[in-house]
Amino acid sequence: MRLFSALLILLLFTACDRDMSTLPAAGTTADSSFAIYAPFRLTTDVSALTERERQMIPLLIEAAKEMEAAFKEEAYGNLDSLVQTITDPAVQRYARINYGPWDRLNDNAPFVAGVGPKPAGANFYPADITQAEIESAAERDPALKSQYTMVRRDSAGALVAIPYHTFFAEKMQRAAGLLDQAAALADDPGLKTYLTLRAEALRTDNYQPSDLAWMDMKDNTIELVIGPIENYEDGLLGAKAAHEAFVLVKDRAWSDRLARYASLLPALQRGLPVENTYKQETPGTDSDLGAYDAVYYAGDSNAGSKTIAINLPNDEAVQLQKGTRRLQLKNAMQAKFDVIMDPLADVLIVPEQRDNVTFDAFFGNTMFHEVAHGLGIKNTVGGGGTVREALREHYSALEEGKADVLGLYMVQQLIEQGEWDAPLEDHYATFLAGIFRSIRFGAASAHGRANMIRFNYFAEKGAIARDENGHYRVNPEAMQAAVNALSADILRLQGDGDYARVAAFVDRYGTVSPELQSDLERVNAAGIPTDIVFEQGVDVLGL
Ligand code: ZN
Repeated sequence: MRLFSALLILLLFTACDRDMSTLPAAGTTADSSFAIYAPFRLTTDVSALTERERQMIPLLIEAAKEMEAAFKEEAYGNLDSLVQTITDPAVQRYARINYGPWDRLNDNAPFVAGVGPKPAGANFYPADITQAEIESAAERDPALKSQYTMVRRDSAGALVAIPYHTFFAEKMQRAAGLLDQAAALADDPGLKTYLTLRAEALRTDNYQPSDLAWMDMKDNTIELVIGPIENYEDGLLGAKAAHEAFVLVKDRAWSDRLARYASLLPALQRGLPVENTYKQETPGTDSDLGAYDAVYYAGDSNAGSKTIAINLPNDEAVQLQKGTRRLQLKNAMQAKFDVIMDPLADVLIVPEQRDNVTFDAFFGNTMFHEVAHGLGIKNTVGGGGTVREALREHYSALEEGKADVLGLYMVQQLIEQGEWDAPLEDHYATFLAGIFRSIRFGAASAHGRANMIRFNYFAEKGAIARDENGHYRVNPEAMQAAVNALSADILRLQGDGDYARVAAFVDRYGTVSPELQSDLERVNAAGIPTDIVFEQGVDVLGL
């Protein structure tokens, strides 16, 4: 039902009234290879904000739009004139979602006739550049490889580096001015300092002082991530940082809860269902983890698939000095739950347990996963170094698997202790639906493989069963025992740091059966969206 209305809104949404240009039309039309992006309105309770906070948000959104404009240039060039050459509204919409004519969810395959493959370095570099050319030119001018420069050719064809604050001078000046205005409205001293230093960074490309100030922010309700940040858009060197912004509002209730659970970690660690050898370390209790509503995404963060969590800063010098902050974006998760998880549960979960798949449990499982990374041990028990070193390429999948299953273990414990009030069945059924969501596009990635391991492990223990209609059910009693058993197994595998045993474990549990594969194909046939596209801005917020 919900799926149907999402698709209906999608159809209405694509019928835009943009002025059609008289330029020659690209021949491509939308086809079934397009991923489905369902629209979602990004809102939050603005009545909980102070008057001055409400005045800040439009300024921050305007500053974010300057990052949007810079990112369009970095990813493609003149996106607006490209869109004007396209006649099919669905293709126009897809080009805007992808910030160019290449499909971000399909290995950047071109979907507009005649554009050719995406240049590896996007538009950060001249399109005809080779890796050998930039490497050799960078020996005389290291600024060519700086994360904060655009690379262009001079009139003689030589490569030149142009700093972002010069190349994007007008945009960065405007954004900086808006941050200064917002800083004047900020009552929280940490936020005021950060906004002032970030404005200065946009003018100079010196981001470190503002990154340090960002780590010091503790009590602010309004939150802003802005600037050139991630390096993924540069497929040539992985060097150039792409502009983006998130305007965020802190969810105080959840942020306080997360701090409370972090403080309970030492006691939870002692209670882990495994031999004492594997729980000798004492977890840290000051995890910098918070929950937020996003009210605006811009640039890199808004291109293609939408991020639902932020872990920054990337500057390793700042990380060494102050660590990182982890921000969980609650309403963006709600979007993915509504348009993907809920309809997926209708296809794969037995009818009588579908109501147990809830957003509250989904968000809870995600938060407990984050906190549960702090449980267990970082060093192998034999004194042979860290778990990461011992398990090499299997480390990430096992660590993610640990956090997922210990997250459920935490839910069991906290419900028992009266610290968390929610039906355990909801957490279990939602966890199962979450596994399906993660393996929908295959089990090849570390994350997909980690999900397959717990699916097969739980199935083997009788905690998950399939009926003749291809629907899956959770058996709560068997599930509780299976959670404890898998927790213990993973903690032992990590603590022993036995690479060969881990490889055998991954081999044994990490595969998709043909039966499950055919069930997953029903999800694709049902036309369930792949991702979301936001309707956002001051009007949506009612400001
Ligand atoms: Zn994780």
